[in-house]
Amino acid sequence: MNRIAVYPGMFDPVTFGHLDIIRRGAALVDRLIVAVAVNIEKKSLFTSEERIRFLEEAVNGIPGVEVCRMDGLLVDFLRAQNAGVVLRGLRTVSDFEYEFQMAGMNRILHPGLETVFLVAGEAFQFLSSRLVKEIAGMGGDVSRFTPPAVLPELRRRMMARLERGPG
Ligand code: ADP
Repeated sequence: MNRIAVYPGMFDPVTFGHLDIIRRGAALVDRLIVAVAVNIEKKSLFTSEERIRFLEEAVNGIPGVEVCRMDGLLVDFLRAQNAGVVLRGLRTVSDFEYEFQMAGMNRILHPGLETVFLVAGEAFQFLSSRLVKEIAGMGGDVSRFTPPAVLPELRRRMMARLERGPG
């Protein structure tokens, strides 16, 4: 059986927490598609092209993993890719409420779909893209949290923001 899973998210930017889920998820399926959401509602720091490039560099060499752009609804993307499994990572109770609702709604939209949750690794429980951006924004070192490809561009964004001044 050819088991295809999709790991959707904003990945703004990818962190070592996401990569842990990708490595562990890839070991469970034949193909894992990391779907980078191009969401008009959610504003991202990085463009979709940048988010995809960072991910592609980071997953290079992990067998069975590919990175794709996702424009519309997750269920439509799943159908187009012939995938029946959604992979998500779970950190805290606050993740749970949102994830529970999304998993339920996606099953209403696409009966037969299964969402598989992997519990975040101990080292990554407190890690989020939002915190990486906040720490970097205040001049902190985030090289322990996000892959090397992200760092120069993140630094450039933060410098530009400092030059623009507060506001
Ligand atoms: P979204 O905006 O869809 O939540 P994210 O890119 O923030 O997108 O996250 C994608 C998925 O990865 C979500 O399931 C999220 O819970 C999970 N995730 C994010 N950070 C971590 C982490 N540090 N450890 C494990 N899973 C994580």
